[in-house]
Amino acid sequence: MTDHAAAGLPANLVVFERGWLSSNNILFIGVDETALVDTGYATHADQTLALVESSLGTRPLDRIVNTHLHSDHCGGNAALQLRYPALRTDIPPGEAALVERWDERGLSFLATGQICPRFQFTGLLRPGTERVLGDRPWQVHSAPGHDPHSIILFDPASLTLISADALWENGFGVAFPELAGEPSFGDMAATLDRIEMLAPLQVIPGHGRVFNEVGSALATARRRLESLQRDPVKHARHAIKVLMKFKLLEAQSIAPEDWKTWLQGASYFDTIRLRFFGDMELEQLAEDVLGELIGAGAAKMDSSGIRNI
Ligand SMILES: [Zn+2]
Repeated sequence: MTDHAAAGLPANLVVFERGWLSSNNILFIGVDETALVDTGYATHADQTLALVESSLGTRPLDRIVNTHLHSDHCGGNAALQLRYPALRTDIPPGEAALVERWDERGLSFLATGQICPRFQFTGLLRPGTERVLGDRPWQVHSAPGHDPHSIILFDPASLTLISADALWENGFGVAFPELAGEPSFGDMAATLDRIEMLAPLQVIPGHGRVFNEVGSALATARRRLESLQRDPVKHARHAIKVLMKFKLLEAQSIAPEDWKTWLQGASYFDTIRLRFFGDMELEQLAEDVLGELIGAGAAKMDSSGIRNI
C-alpha cells in the first residue's frame, strides 16, 4: 500500500499496488459510497477480494470502475459481483456492446490467450463527464493509444491522476492497435500531451508504484514512443514478449505441448507475425522471442517445460 501523506493522495483512497499480472486497484472509501478502480487478473481474484474486504470491514463495495477492459484490469469483476450482489459496474463506452453479448473475440481475451470471467455492467464512463469517487468529483478523460477505449481519471482538487496503462513511471503499455494495423502511436502521443495539460502532481499508474516525478515520466514515455515509432518491428517483438511473460506469470510453469497449444490458440501472435514477420514461421518466431526472454533472465527452460522467473 502507498504512503498517502508522502504521495499527496486524498485520504480516503487506498492503493493496492499489485504486480504485472494484476493491475493496481484503487479503493475509495467515501461517506456515501465505496468504489474500486480496476480489479486485477482473474487468477488473483481471491487476493483482490481479501484486500477489499480487509479495508472495508463490514461495509459492502458499492461500485467498480474499469479504466479499460484488458484482462488484468477487469479480471476480478465477476468475483466481486458475486461477493457484493448490489454492486454497480461502470465501464468505458467503447466496448459496452461486446460486454453485453460477451464477445470474447471482440474483447481481447481470446486473441491474447488470456482469461476473464464474464461480468455485467450497469453504467458507462463517458469522457467529458465526472464520477464521484471518495466523495470528490473525478474527471473522466479519454486516453486512447494503449487501448482505443481506455479512460483515465483526474481529481482537479488534489491534482491526482489515475493513468491506467497510458503512463507508467517508466513507460506505458503496448500500443495494441498498432499490432493489428490500426495506427495508435499518434493517439498515444496525444494522450501524453493531455496528461501534461492536466498537470498532475501525483500519478497512480495501472502498474508499479505511485509517483510524483510526472515530468520525467512523460519525458521517458515520449523517448520510448519515438523509438518505437522509428522501429515498429521492435515494438512488435516487445509485444510478443509481453504476452509471453504475462502467460508465464499466470501459469508459472508450463509444459512444452501446452505452450505450443497456447501459442497457436492466441490469434494475436499470427496477426503480429503476418504483419511484421511475414517470412517467418510462427514456431520459429516464438522460439526466437522466448530465447530473448530466457536470455534476459525472465524465463527458464528445462526438461519439464518453460518456467517463469
Ligand atoms: Zn492494458
